[in-house]
Amino acid sequence: MVDTDCTEGNDTAGPTVPSQAEIPTPSAAAATTDATGYVVWHRKHLRVADHRALAEAVAGGDAVCPLFVFDPRFYGDAGLACDSRLRFLHEAVTSLERQYMNTPTDSTETTASESWRLLVDEMCPEQPSSRQSMRQSDPPDVLRPPEVGGLTIGYGDPVVLLSRFIDRGWSVVTMAAPTGRYGYQRDERIKRVCGNAVEFVSGDGLVRGEEWPRDRWQERVESWLETPRHEPEWRQHETTRVTIDTGLTPAAIDDVFAVTPTKTKVPSGTHREAIIRLREFIERIRSYPGNISAPQDARGGTSGLSPYLNFGLLSVRQVYQHCTESAPESGGRSMFLSRLFWNRHYNQKLADWPGWTTEAVNPVFAGFNDETHDPALVTAWKRGQTGYPMVDASMRCLRDTGWLNFRMRAMCASFFSHILQQPWRIGADWYHHHLIDSDVGINYTQWQSQAGLIGKPSQRVYNPRKQVRDNDPGGEWITEWVPELTDLPEAFLPRPERTPLAVQEECGVRIGDVYPLPVVEFEARREAFWDRYERLRPAAAELLRRPDIAKRASFSGGYSAARAIAEKHGSGSVSGDTTRQTSLGDIDKNRRGHQGPLGDPDDTVETPRPAGPDGRSTCVGAIPTGVGQQAGDPSPDDRAATPAEPEETTASREQSDAEATETDDCGVGNGDGQATLDRFS
Ligand SMILES: Cc1cc2nc3c(=O)[nH]c(=O)nc-3n(C[C@H](O)[C@H](O)[C@H](O)COP(=O)(O)OP(=O)(O)OC[C@H]3O[C@@H](n4cnc5c(N)ncnc54)[C@H](O)[C@@H]3O)c2cc1C
Repeated sequence: MVDTDCTEGNDTAGPTVPSQAEIPTPSAAAATTDATGYVVWHRKHLRVADHRALAEAVAGGDAVCPLFVFDPRFYGDAGLACDSRLRFLHEAVTSLERQYMNTPTDSTETTASESWRLLVDEMCPEQPSSRQSMRQSDPPDVLRPPEVGGLTIGYGDPVVLLSRFIDRGWSVVTMAAPTGRYGYQRDERIKRVCGNAVEFVSGDGLVRGEEWPRDRWQERVESWLETPRHEPEWRQHETTRVTIDTGLTPAAIDDVFAVTPTKTKVPSGTHREAIIRLREFIERIRSYPGNISAPQDARGGTSGLSPYLNFGLLSVRQVYQHCTESAPESGGRSMFLSRLFWNRHYNQKLADWPGWTTEAVNPVFAGFNDETHDPALVTAWKRGQTGYPMVDASMRCLRDTGWLNFRMRAMCASFFSHILQQPWRIGADWYHHHLIDSDVGINYTQWQSQAGLIGKPSQRVYNPRKQVRDNDPGGEWITEWVPELTDLPEAFLPRPERTPLAVQEECGVRIGDVYPLPVVEFEARREAFWDRYERLRPAAAELLRRPDIAKRASFSGGYSAARAIAEKHGSGSVSGDTTRQTSLGDIDKNRRGHQGPLGDPDDTVETPRPAGPDGRSTCVGAIPTGVGQQAGDPSPDDRAATPAEPEETTASREQSDAEATETDDCGVGNGDGQATLDRFS
């Protein structure tokens, strides 16, 4: 079962199918004596192409049984995914089944009628409609498999089920995938119970099993991206594909768990749709940089591939190679390729430390904002009722569609953590519930990064008013999601509460009535945040000296990066002097003083980027280097798309502290050479 994800879990109650008696031995399935059989357990990598575990199973086994297990722990109260994400997953499983149907190989199928009975009795004794859909479902077209077969669809506790296969003589292979919470516990349980009979195959570009996975990290990821894909050679190996028909379909799971998607604009979870999106995006890749920042441009302007990458309908490598082979040389191309590295970079963090989903990575920030927790503010944020139109539009869009562009995700996370000052995990879980593309490896690591829980010297606080001016000055997007502001003159959209009463009367938009007054005062909250944050910052930087904390933080520059931060900003350093509270003036001075040689806002960059033979950077676009010469943590950049902002040069505190650009730790940051406005840059 894919980690759509759920809370911590105990053993699953209820039936697990197929039963042991219904599982043929590999020899029986392949109709040869002493046959070798592999179960390919699909979890996140829901595809047949570029799938190392499958390719190796096909090469090494006489019989291969592709398996997907619906684990009830991901549904109902314990489940953390919204129904629209579950539906996307169900569509993807159906589409995977179709892919298997088309594999060029001999196949055998056995019927597991005992499973069928068990499931009906257990899951829907009272529901005739569910009974019917178990066998003869009548789902929407997208969910209807052409015919049963191709993929064994199990149900129940994966540990129990995999053990049954092993007892019947099968080995199990599955792609390793970073997980947290229940998914992590489940994988650990499998390792304990099944031992070597289950192999977690590393074939996703992440580095595992090493003391310091970040050593030469970028080089290794780059090499993985460029090596040939792992394609299963069914014909060459004459492998038999085995299916056990349990009678279960994704449509039946929809039915039994009352999966009722409500979101709009959600793409369909099919491989066909993934490929269409990829091809269409490559055709418009030149315009990508101009479509990243503004939310209304981003929806059709970025690739829209995130849910497909998350569930693995496409591998990051397939997308990378298609792009390098087909996309014209352009800024858009290199910017997009760098995003694929970021995907791997953040997932590497979760692979390095599963605690990202639950604990502040830097213990100094454990419990940060707990004392300011205010459920009313959390509710206002979730409902899009904060009185800040850009935040409210974003939060309503997230809830209604399950997607937001990077900038709006970052802005709302920053607003939640820095301005509302609420515990980060509540916000991260809310995103995780609603995002169709929620990737545990990116969402939680991004949240901690945006909330400033890592101990990096640079931190950014977004100003949602500035975001209106920069990214939606005409209010087109805001009024799509906050229609009660439609008649408000656009000049007042950054601060509706400042609309003169006469204007409110005239346009009929009474602020405080049809639309809320700001739930908090921005400037005061921001100052309060900085005061608290700066008191902790040197101690947090100091902790990065500890190898265990540096490992968790998983900077692309490895331990040397973490230590460099500790040395420069830790409690023992001059700038980390905790005996005196840093003033805003000091910070401005620090900002200038810490600017890296390439104008990088991240003051952890103390050495230039490694240069290639021609003296140019060896980085592709804005990619984390991972060579250990630079410190810090890539923070995605969409700034290249944003025109120069004249107000950044004014003395206005709001403007100077306001917007942060997202930069990487490669040294160039935003790719347009603009100086950025990080707090300490
Ligand atoms: C608080 C927060 C939470 C986020 N949660 C997720 C998440 O759960 N899943 C997710 O895929 N992305 C997440 N992102 C990153 C980013 O917002 C999305 O990847 C992007 O908006 C997806 O749209 P797209 O596929 O059209 O992106 P494109 O711009 O077309 O990028 C292509 C791919 O590159 C990767 N990518 C792009 N930006 C980033 C980034 N900043 N960090 C890591 N990978 C990136 C994604 O795999 C993305 O699909 C988060 C960002 C923030 C600030």
